[in-house]
Amino acid sequence: MPRLFGTNGVRGVVNEDMNIYLASNLGSAIGTWLAGGKVAIATDTRTSNEMLKSGVISGLLSTGCSVVDLGCAPTPVLQYHVKLTDVDHGIVITASHNPPNFNGIKCVDCDGTELSRKKEEEIEALYFNKSFERVPWDKIGGVTQDANAIEDYIKGVIKNIDSEATKSADLKVVLDCGNGAGSLVSPYLLERMGCKVVTLNAHPQGTFPGHESEPTPENLKDLIEATVNFGADLGIAHDGDADRTIIIDEKGNYLYGDRILALVTRELLRENNGGVIVTTVASSLAMDDVVKDNHGEIIYTKVGSPIVARKMMETNAIFGGEENGGLIFPKHQFCRDGGMAAAKVVEIIAKQKKPLSDLIAELPKYHLYKTKVVCPNEKKESALKEFAKRIKSEKVDLTDGVKILSEDSWVLVRPSGTEPIYRIFAEAKDVKKAEEIAEENKKIIADIIKKS
Ligand code: MG
Repeated sequence: MPRLFGTNGVRGVVNEDMNIYLASNLGSAIGTWLAGGKVAIATDTRTSNEMLKSGVISGLLSTGCSVVDLGCAPTPVLQYHVKLTDVDHGIVITASHNPPNFNGIKCVDCDGTELSRKKEEEIEALYFNKSFERVPWDKIGGVTQDANAIEDYIKGVIKNIDSEATKSADLKVVLDCGNGAGSLVSPYLLERMGCKVVTLNAHPQGTFPGHESEPTPENLKDLIEATVNFGADLGIAHDGDADRTIIIDEKGNYLYGDRILALVTRELLRENNGGVIVTTVASSLAMDDVVKDNHGEIIYTKVGSPIVARKMMETNAIFGGEENGGLIFPKHQFCRDGGMAAAKVVEIIAKQKKPLSDLIAELPKYHLYKTKVVCPNEKKESALKEFAKRIKSEKVDLTDGVKILSEDSWVLVRPSGTEPIYRIFAEAKDVKKAEEIAEENKKIIADIIKKS
């Protein structure tokens, strides 16, 4: 059976593969699978949202489900609403950081986490077989609105933050919402924590006039400049659906996600006197060092935030996340949460009473080198097996792709889940060594692909 769901829901180009037929059939499949529950729905700020949302809602109603429409809201707001209230399921219309001509449909389980692969497969089977259970005319569901979801979410985040400390610290923040769904939440959240907030691109607009919605260093040039020019304590940016957060320090340095992951890890281990931390095999060795130094235990998973979230539930973890700025705070909810991540970093600066650049400088420093090699999807599996056979090292981790570990470095060769490529990441204490081991292993895998 073909796959419909990718690593982060169903994605596609609007009015091509992502169209009203897909939306209504997927709504019908989810409704059939739920057999008449209550579903909350939210969107990011894209121009195609109303069109696709209407399709999904039609499908749901035709199968007897009722719908609670939250309007435009970040993905974590919808997830929190599903966790907090009696709705059975959630759906977000979003393509996260993709360009504006893309959109997507993402499903959330009854506990607010992303759906497991097994449940996605059940929905896919109904979708591809078109085995929908339409109900008689007098059983068709209805739509209600709930305008409280954002307020509930803001209160939920603040409950998990020392807001007395943030209020007395009087911090200044420049916040770039990228015209995404975070515009409706983060300015107000940070203000209520006592921050002086200067906003950029904080009006919801699905054409993304400010910049593309992936928070890369190139897209955040204005934020970097404004953070320095306004003399702010930090800069904050979200992706389009505000489940991820990227931070700029007071000097204008773009902090890659693994630096913030390590900073928050250290703080939470200290607050809790140790605990379990879950992250993926692609995370920095700095995480390993910070966890060991602070009496914690680290567990590595495959790449993908739902996998991290479910492992955190199993292991009673105190914190987890990925190196792309997706941070998961289980006391709040088991999913990536951009608002909670921003609030926690502000709290750390407020409580430590040090500039963010000093706090970051205290963390162990490694250099990451990333490269890739093209590999047709049908060759991916056999090439990886052959690559694993050629590795002579004793310390090999096969959790996701092949990770070869040595004393102060590692290299990960991993097939991409979305593109016909192998990603090769290497990390070491110095840049040259990281580049060297990445290129060395790139040659080996490229040679295997060529000969296969
Ligand atoms: Mg996102």
